[in-house]
Amino acid sequence: MRKLLILVITLIMLGAATPIAAQSDAQTHYLLARPLPATANIRPDFGFPYGWHRNHQSPIHHGMDYLNPRGTPVLAAGAGTVFYAGSDTDFVVGPQPNFYGNVIIIQHDFASPEGGAVFTLYGHLSSIGVAQGQRVDQGAVIGKVGATGIAIGSHLHFEVRVGDPANYGAVRNPELWYPPAAGKGKVIGRLLDVNGNPAMGIRVVFSTAATVQPTFTYAEASMPSDPMYGENFVMGDLSPGCYRVRVRGGAGYVYDESVCVKAGQTVLLEAHMNG
Ligand SMILES: [Zn+2]
Repeated sequence: MRKLLILVITLIMLGAATPIAAQSDAQTHYLLARPLPATANIRPDFGFPYGWHRNHQSPIHHGMDYLNPRGTPVLAAGAGTVFYAGSDTDFVVGPQPNFYGNVIIIQHDFASPEGGAVFTLYGHLSSIGVAQGQRVDQGAVIGKVGATGIAIGSHLHFEVRVGDPANYGAVRNPELWYPPAAGKGKVIGRLLDVNGNPAMGIRVVFSTAATVQPTFTYAEASMPSDPMYGENFVMGDLSPGCYRVRVRGGAGYVYDESVCVKAGQTVLLEAHMNG
């Protein structure tokens, strides 16, 4: 039986006056859970986020990475049907064969707000525990973390695809599809340049007196924003509190504002760079 989740999401619009989403919109997205047990490292690597290419040192990243030891159980992020389970040598779902190694794709039982079927993809697995066509419940163990395909070290590569599961470009930022971790908050951001266009590859730093957490923006046709948010970065798993959000420019900062998040809260931030 499907579990009903009552989500309490507070959305605050900061900066510009144009809302980038309403509260009901986020509720339509928070339908998945994290693809790992709570005992594993469930914090994604925000230093190599969705849409980033490590200053052109890597292929642009179509998902998020969870660094975990080989053998860590991988869980179905939501209930659904296994669309594919096997090597991506024969069934190519990345930019080249054997990119994701052992890969599982699950089709979920809900559609995206804009109407496409929603899929999750789990890459670089050391082992696969499900078969094509099999039904899975949310939280079911489907495989184990590994480093098959093109992977630097053992980690789970996790993607959300909408519409076409075999289309490498049909991705969305997975961070948009599950709520903040217990006791944490999330910022969904849109960073705009001086002409009002979404900026690509900009380092956005969230800092407090004790912490510095960078992430990078995305804004390319091959790396879609969610049609509902128009976002180009997400910073998840923020401890409650206020953060200085800054973007460095030529001689100083071209964006320098404060944003506060509470536990369980998702904050929408529209940030305009002034240089
Ligand atoms: Zn990855």
